[in-house]
Amino acid sequence: MALVNEFFLELPRNNMFATIAQEVKIFNVIRPSTDLIDLSVNDVTNSLAAHVIKAMHSAVDEMADEKTFHGYGPEQGYSFLRELIIKNDFNSRGIHLSTDEVFINDGIKSEIGNIGELLCGDNAIGVSDPIYPVYVESNVISGRAGIFVNGHWSNVIYLDGNENNGFVPQIPDRQVDIVYLCSPNNPTGMAFSKSQLKKWVDYALKNNVLILFDATYEAYIQAPNIPHSIYEIRGAKKVAIELRSFSRTAGFTGMRCGYTVIPHELHVQNIEGKSISMNQLWNRRQSIRFNGVSYVTQCAAAAIYTDEGKAEIRKTIDYYMRNVMLMRRELAPTGVRLFGGEHVPYLWMKVPQGTTSYDYFKKMLYGANVVCTPGTAFGPSGEGYVRLSAFASYDDCRNAVERLKKWL
Ligand code: PLP
Repeated sequence: MALVNEFFLELPRNNMFATIAQEVKIFNVIRPSTDLIDLSVNDVTNSLAAHVIKAMHSAVDEMADEKTFHGYGPEQGYSFLRELIIKNDFNSRGIHLSTDEVFINDGIKSEIGNIGELLCGDNAIGVSDPIYPVYVESNVISGRAGIFVNGHWSNVIYLDGNENNGFVPQIPDRQVDIVYLCSPNNPTGMAFSKSQLKKWVDYALKNNVLILFDATYEAYIQAPNIPHSIYEIRGAKKVAIELRSFSRTAGFTGMRCGYTVIPHELHVQNIEGKSISMNQLWNRRQSIRFNGVSYVTQCAAAAIYTDEGKAEIRKTIDYYMRNVMLMRRELAPTGVRLFGGEHVPYLWMKVPQGTTSYDYFKKMLYGANVVCTPGTAFGPSGEGYVRLSAFASYDDCRNAVERLKKWL
């Protein structure tokens, strides 16, 4: 009989997103004629940019002709895309990378767990809290998280971001080996300043910590002094892997494409203390486990870097940011405490004292007919908050705030 990975069984049966869907289903049975507005959306809503579509059409035509057909591509990604990424996303910020330091991925969600495969199960992990839940859950599966007690994983060191510290994760007082940071952060909207991020890089350099830096929302940054990449900080190439996704930048949630940067300077150790290049390990891993992202998708991603593509994706990003600004502006006079909405299209809303996030989600569902996400979906520090997403149509956002204003 095959034995199961016991760590997997530690996961709660349903995650919060499935529970929300279940509650919405029940609501629709009880009140079939009530029209809900869903601001718990964890997806983009606008269609792909015209130039992206055009690039895909022409890549499909290439696939239809033997002379231009593409079979298996390089596991690391086509160099035409990797070079565009380096030129546009890094050189423009004074960061120099070589092509073989950039790996095209099929989205961050899978990459998070994949990278964990290279790292020993005994590493102590520190996780910015609250955060995109996949960071913790993928560590549960690989046995690094321990057991779930009172909303906390016993072996996870939670780096609390709360109202008192501006939602900036604090450097732990215990040794951690791997740290997950996300800036701008989903769900709180916290974005590291250069000096805050420098503290993390300096700490990692001093204590041999590996940082996994999730920059999914970097394209939403609105202020010039906020770093878009961890490599804007001196020394970061020695300690950090950066994960980027085209999902939020260019609406690629259904396309599945992003990239991972693993600099040559980044090393981990084996049990005898020998230094090992993470880039080489990852390159080897990809050649075993991955056959690359499809040619058509990579051509689509390359179109984002044309002048027309850049203008089109900027328009969509601005659209979501306009939604969130409207929500923030309209809800502010109600006296509700709101955070975020500056560098991400999410609002992080404080719930009244004595109410749990989950209760408030239900109250809002039945009272305002608006669906939000309970903060605990993102970790224990999310208790006391709910997230409202502006990845929705302008009309939905406007109507939702009208409902919320009346309800509040
Ligand atoms: N990282 C963060 C912070 C996210 O919010 C999300 C999606 O919600 C992802 C990663 C997943 O990105 P991808 O679509 O590339 O898997």
